[in-house]
Amino acid sequence: RSLEEVLKAGIRDIPDYPQAGVVFKDITPLLADHDGFAHVVQALAESGKDEDGNVVVDKVVGIEARGFILAAPVALALGAGFVPVRKKGKLPAATYEESYALEYGEATIEVHQDAFAPGERVLVIDDVLATGGTVEACLRLVRRCGAEVVGTTVLLELSFLPGRERLAEEQLTALVTV
Ligand code: 5GP
Repeated sequence: RSLEEVLKAGIRDIPDYPQAGVVFKDITPLLADHDGFAHVVQALAESGKDEDGNVVVDKVVGIEARGFILAAPVALALGAGFVPVRKKGKLPAATYEESYALEYGEATIEVHQDAFAPGERVLVIDDVLATGGTVEACLRLVRRCGAEVVGTTVLLELSFLPGRERLAEEQLTALVTV
């Protein structure tokens, strides 16, 4: 099966979740398919390599919660470390925090201040890019720690939302765009 077939079969639309009018992209069928999941992890991990196949990242960041599921196996596949970016109040040691606007209200995410050594090269992974607010805040966190962002890679990009424009200055890769 091609990556395209795997993604098509493994991502389903759930209407009116989490609220009326929103069509939620559910990746749980993909995660339940071992071959599909393995294929997607390999494809995501390509973003952490150069043209010759050399690994060019020291750490892979996963954004809570579905980002964790994808970023941890990508980190292992690359021989890199894994760093969690979490919702406010979940990380035990000293953190930096960044807030961003949601449709209603605000969200805050955090990272441990000592999560990266200065100059470490970082790949950020999340499942879905929607408005781009989450990734944008995450990149601010990584940079505040003194680390270097190599790129951001998502499984799925929703092109009817302004995520890509918002991240126009960034190296952004999506396995599939709808
Ligand atoms: P953004 O900040 O780009 O608007 O929203 C992205 C965040 O919300 C990601 O962390 C992602 O997990 C979640 N998200 C938004 N819409 C969807 C969706 O349709 N499906 C999934 N799986 N996650 C979504």
